[in-house]
Amino acid sequence: MTESTEVYGEHLAEFQKTAYIKGMDEYQKLYKQSVEDPEGFWAQQAEKYLSWEKKWDQVLDYDFTEARISWFSGGVLNASYNCLDRHLDTIADKIAYYWEGDNPEETKAVTYKDLYTRVNRFAAVLKNNGVKKGDRVIIYMPMIVELPVSLLACARIGAIHSVVFGGFSADAIANRIKDCGAKVVITADGGYRGGKPVSLKDNVDKAMEKCPDVETVIVVNRTDSGIPLKPGKEVWWHEEEEKTAADTFVAPEPMDAEDPLFILYTSGSTGKPKGVVHTHAGYLLYTAITTRLVFDLKDDEVFWCTADIGWITGHSYIVYGPLCCGLTGVMFEGVPNYPDFDRFWAIVEKYRINKFYTAPTAIRALAREGESHVEKHDLSSLSLLGTVGEPINPEAWRWYYKNVGKSRCPIIDTWWQTETGGHMLTPLPGVAPVKPGSCSFPFFGVDPVILDDTGEPVKFPDEEGLLCIRKPWPAMARTVYGDHERFRETYFSQVPGMYFTGDAAKKDADGYYWIIGRIDDVINVSGHRLGTAELESALVLHPSVAEAAVVGFPHPIKGQGIYAFVILKANATASDALKKELVGQVRNEIGPIATLDIVQFTDGLPKTRSGKIMRRILKKISAGKLDELGDTSTIADESVIDKLVENRVNIE
Ligand code: ATP
Ligand code: MG
Repeated sequence: MTESTEVYGEHLAEFQKTAYIKGMDEYQKLYKQSVEDPEGFWAQQAEKYLSWEKKWDQVLDYDFTEARISWFSGGVLNASYNCLDRHLDTIADKIAYYWEGDNPEETKAVTYKDLYTRVNRFAAVLKNNGVKKGDRVIIYMPMIVELPVSLLACARIGAIHSVVFGGFSADAIANRIKDCGAKVVITADGGYRGGKPVSLKDNVDKAMEKCPDVETVIVVNRTDSGIPLKPGKEVWWHEEEEKTAADTFVAPEPMDAEDPLFILYTSGSTGKPKGVVHTHAGYLLYTAITTRLVFDLKDDEVFWCTADIGWITGHSYIVYGPLCCGLTGVMFEGVPNYPDFDRFWAIVEKYRINKFYTAPTAIRALAREGESHVEKHDLSSLSLLGTVGEPINPEAWRWYYKNVGKSRCPIIDTWWQTETGGHMLTPLPGVAPVKPGSCSFPFFGVDPVILDDTGEPVKFPDEEGLLCIRKPWPAMARTVYGDHERFRETYFSQVPGMYFTGDAAKKDADGYYWIIGRIDDVINVSGHRLGTAELESALVLHPSVAEAAVVGFPHPIKGQGIYAFVILKANATASDALKKELVGQVRNEIGPIATLDIVQFTDGLPKTRSGKIMRRILKKISAGKLDELGDTSTIADESVIDKLVENRVNIE
């Protein structure tokens, strides 16, 4: 069976009874309308999903040459109002978040009314500390309830938040503070991960040495660390909150549809992170509609997105999308392997989670530990499983499908980017069967095209090329903060008149899209282009392989050779015989052109803090360019690099 003919449609009959979008005909009809008449389609959705203080004058105005995009201009609304105030009449007592601490004994149920109260009080705290509309606020926090409260309080008063993932270093914080000119930082003394307290405030202190312009640091007491605060500049969250009345009301600031809601830095997989800017109206609308339709979430269901709020996935699918829709979500402070490798499944069972959304890196890590952890728990509440962040290898897909979804839950493989704000290519559960490794079809309003080397749309099924988007969609980024030229150049100059994604893709004969990998990572062997996703998936198929990363290196005859970094499963042993087997395996799966030149076994791979493989660093290592590793500020564990360099196989 070739990969594009392996289809799974067991879930369809059940979903088609109740899904919002039932079947291919309905999808195609709506899709056609959304791309032929985007203004009509999105105006209708904007009425349905959002509450407006004042309606817009014009739905869409754009010029891709100038990288200028505007949705719903003249419209006035507030994201915090849409996520909170408007729900109070109907669902004040509904749970917004089940919060699960790192320690499984520590939990909270937060209702919409609770969240509303806390956001109002903290909005007052921000105002009391001099924060005004348009000011930038850096948020560096663990996954505690004060984190979404901070985001929504900023949105409420029109301040622009920029969340820095709690695992980042002092330098990463300082760079982001300077880049966006923040004058307030919200943080915590520490957080808990895997049973241990981790300090956060130390990193903020170090960052502060480089950021004299920050006026106030607001600190949550999370770990009772008893650390002293610097008087005048640093304040405790709880003390500031106590200065406000329990029924404090801060009127939501009337925001123009196009006013920035937040800045978020990309993961840094391909270079220096970009401070992507998203807006109040378009972003909120698009995250709300994709939350509803892609996960087919009903009002009485429980949704868990395991991402950290520090990433776009958390912004869109823990905070803004679900709250705008008035849904119940789970927020998890801890890690998948504490107290044991069954933690995710224990949480699914505990809250009877219906729809579950995670990343391939987590699936691979959990699959490596075997099925027993999954089998311990009752996962019968689940009806849909999602994935995001990297191409998912079909082997990991099947493991997830079979062991977690018990062969009845569709895998919703969502392709999107920080810059796109929400899902772009994705299956809808009631529409069509799914294929392992494919992100299926474009969401409504998304008009993708695959271009060949000459810039023309590819002509045949399965022909690979650059993935571009021809039309604007509401949640697309509007600029790179403080550097519009970088925005224009990165996304709109490579292919005039289109949004350039930086990813390579193909579309099969059934119209399903497949992401091949990053364009810069595609390996050209004697004129044949090989995608990293395909090569790595072929390696992971081998029973001894847990994870693999493949890069091209300069090769005197072939142009580029293939260098594979391979992590073995716990029970496998490295040997030359195994190397040979792996070479044979990839040749069998893909063809003789895909002959690995070098296989290096390793215990770790350089990954971003969000768990993505940083192939740009592996490329430098494979080519021996050890002094040109580039921006390593977002790497999770730098010591991995030294080990890889030490064991590098010399190719000269
Ligand atoms: P940077 O832009 O700083 O290099 P990044 O691209 O990793 O970092 P993100 O916006 O977090 O930053 O990730 C988006 C990218 O992740 C996509 O362009 C794509 O390469 C990859 N990706 C995300 N989801 C999927 C998916 N479902 N299938 C394949 N690839 C995916
Ligand atoms: Mg990117």
